[in-house]
Amino acid sequence: MDYDFAVIGGGSAGYAAARTAVGLGLKTAVIEGGKEIGGLCILRGCMPSKTLLESARRFRVLKRAGEFGLSCGTPEFNAAAIIARKNRLVSECAEYRRGQLESGKFDFHRGRAEFLDSHTLRIHAPDGKTSTLRSRTFLISTGSEIGIPPVPGLAESRCLTSDDLLDLESIPESIIVLGAGPVGLEMASYCRAFGSRVTIIQRSPQILKSVDPDVASALVESLRRDGIDIFTNTSLLHVADDGRQARVSFEQSGKVKSLEAARVLNALGRKPRLDGLEPLNLATTHGRIAVQSDQSTSHAHIFAAGDVCGGLEVVHIAIQQGEIAAHNATILLGRKTGAPRVMDYRLKLFAVFSEPQLASVGSTEAELRASGIEFLAASYPFNDHGKSLVMGETEGFVKLLAHRASGEILGASVVGPEASDLIHEVVVAMNYRATVRDFASIPHYHPTLSEIWTYPAEEIADQLSPT
Ligand SMILES: Cc1cc2nc3c(=O)[nH]c(=O)nc-3n(C[C@H](O)[C@H](O)[C@H](O)COP(=O)(O)OP(=O)(O)OC[C@H]3O[C@@H](n4cnc5c(N)ncnc54)[C@H](O)[C@@H]3O)c2cc1C
Repeated sequence: MDYDFAVIGGGSAGYAAARTAVGLGLKTAVIEGGKEIGGLCILRGCMPSKTLLESARRFRVLKRAGEFGLSCGTPEFNAAAIIARKNRLVSECAEYRRGQLESGKFDFHRGRAEFLDSHTLRIHAPDGKTSTLRSRTFLISTGSEIGIPPVPGLAESRCLTSDDLLDLESIPESIIVLGAGPVGLEMASYCRAFGSRVTIIQRSPQILKSVDPDVASALVESLRRDGIDIFTNTSLLHVADDGRQARVSFEQSGKVKSLEAARVLNALGRKPRLDGLEPLNLATTHGRIAVQSDQSTSHAHIFAAGDVCGGLEVVHIAIQQGEIAAHNATILLGRKTGAPRVMDYRLKLFAVFSEPQLASVGSTEAELRASGIEFLAASYPFNDHGKSLVMGETEGFVKLLAHRASGEILGASVVGPEASDLIHEVVVAMNYRATVRDFASIPHYHPTLSEIWTYPAEEIADQLSPT
């Protein structure tokens, strides 16, 4: 065997796993087959999208200058300059990741890997040469790619993808966004900030299936107030986009509707990258590699982490899964004793950087009901909170869910200003299994956005039996 641990894919999951494995003394290799080095988060995911959204947020602030007694003329934007700033930031991050991968701490192979058998990889290098590599254990962290669901016309159309939009040096005058997942909602908010007429078409009755209905509704109402048209509970019939004019037909409540726009964005989701894994005949769930809570696949010595196996396709989960896989490979190889580490989704954390933002942690009401856990819920709106009034950011609310008997916080959501940061206060509290009483008694400076959490915490605490 050439290696103890071979990692296929040098994105967020793969790099985290390799770093952990080296730290645990495993002879490790990373094989990266992408055209560019960096992985999805850096190249076409979190970093570029949030950079564009930051320009959008600042443009919205400029447009509201008069409300705050300020004047900056008529704000203008330059989409090419926005993309150029994003490109600079992405190349800096990619350069940093390249340095990490080429640091020499583990062997870094450039090329696309395919399994020949369950211990052997063939690597197709960019110069056309091939080589083989054998390893005792593996991590598959090959990520995902944009999916094209079987909607008539979609595959043949010149629909934009998130990859395209992240490079588009002009904002479409109008755009139809197919799908109201995080990517669709963020891209809709980005285009809307710069004046695009935006329509979102979503298949299920609720946007963002993993949050409580009242949380999803609050975001929908805010997006509608921002001028975005949203159609839910639909079935797509046909899509056409020749790059100049687009048309989408869909059915809603038994009626066929047809909309036109300058462009269509396919934000209907991503699929795992599974090519090269065929000889393994791995078990899958919903098309993704099936993993146990210790990240092992149907082959005990082959682990999987990140978007390729899912759980929640976000970066911190990919990293955590990769680290757990590396630890468990070390135990499997007999280099470490102790029980295998397992993923714990109790602190399931999720954020959408739309305008306003949405974030949640822990269980939803539906999940608690399904588990038979009795709980209390309380929420508080931003339009009655000092700091948000000061900021002029009054959309949305915060919500807490707590165990009916003990008061332990079991879940929280925010729709509103700085939601993606505000949620972390509850993440920390939940990590230490704080109750609403603990939470309400922690000092909160006035006036701050964070202070808003004390109101639902106190409301629930008042309903608990006295201690
Ligand atoms: C527009 C957008 C915005 C997002 N925003 C956020 C956000 O704000 N926050 C968040 O947490 N998440 C966000 N995500 C999701 C996040 O980017 C992913 O969950 C995360 O990057 C997945 O990491 P990964 O390691 O599983 O996969 P990747 O980073 O995709 O890494 C997989 C790597 O494997 C390589 N590879 C594939 N096949 C092979 C092969 N056969 N041989 C060798 N190498 C191979 C690929 O080249 C790639 O480098 C966003 C995603 C998108 C699309």
